[in-house]
Amino acid sequence: MRLVLLGAPGSGKGTQAARLRDHFGVPHISTGELLRAAVRAGTPIGLKAKAVMDAGGLVSDEIVLTILEERLSAGDTGAGYILDGYPRNLSQANALDVLLARLAQPVERAIQLDVDNELLIARLAGRALAEGRADDNPESVRKRLEVYDAQTAPVIDYYRHQQKLTSVDGVGAMEEVFERIVEALGNRFA
Ligand code: ADP
Repeated sequence: MRLVLLGAPGSGKGTQAARLRDHFGVPHISTGELLRAAVRAGTPIGLKAKAVMDAGGLVSDEIVLTILEERLSAGDTGAGYILDGYPRNLSQANALDVLLARLAQPVERAIQLDVDNELLIARLAGRALAEGRADDNPESVRKRLEVYDAQTAPVIDYYRHQQKLTSVDGVGAMEEVFERIVEALGNRFA
């Protein structure tokens, strides 16, 4: 199961990725989590990334590719992976194809979680209260949604052209959305 999970901030990608990891027994690789870990550890990458992340912008392609390559070299992706938060623009989508071709682990499927903007904003406001993430303040949320529409939405078409894309309705209970994803992936991955 080599899967890319696409969806706006607040679409539930992270939650569903964790469920899919448990279901399929393959690692969940979140570039957002990797970057937050680098920030917490105070590494040079973390120090560079922090201000951009807090403001809701995209960390440079070069930095994110470096941490992703490092993560993929851990050698635990033989049975597959769930990628969450990457690729976020077309140049990352191209870089990912090159990297994964070299590792002989190309993306099999891309799932897009579809949730409308009003609900995204409401969910992120709720998460701000619950988790206190530095980038869940109203200004950064607005910026992240803008960045998603401008830069990440084209990635959906990228996978559509490769005939790897399935869109899934991301509105509903966590369990319900999970069932939809598993169904969309079809029995050959069950
Ligand atoms: P969300 O989907 O809610 O925005 P993530 O955890 O995926 O949360 O990402 C948090 C932040 O980390 C992003 O706003 C961005 O600053 C940075 N980030 C994560 N993945 C990437 C990426 N692939 N390219 C550039 N920046 C990234």
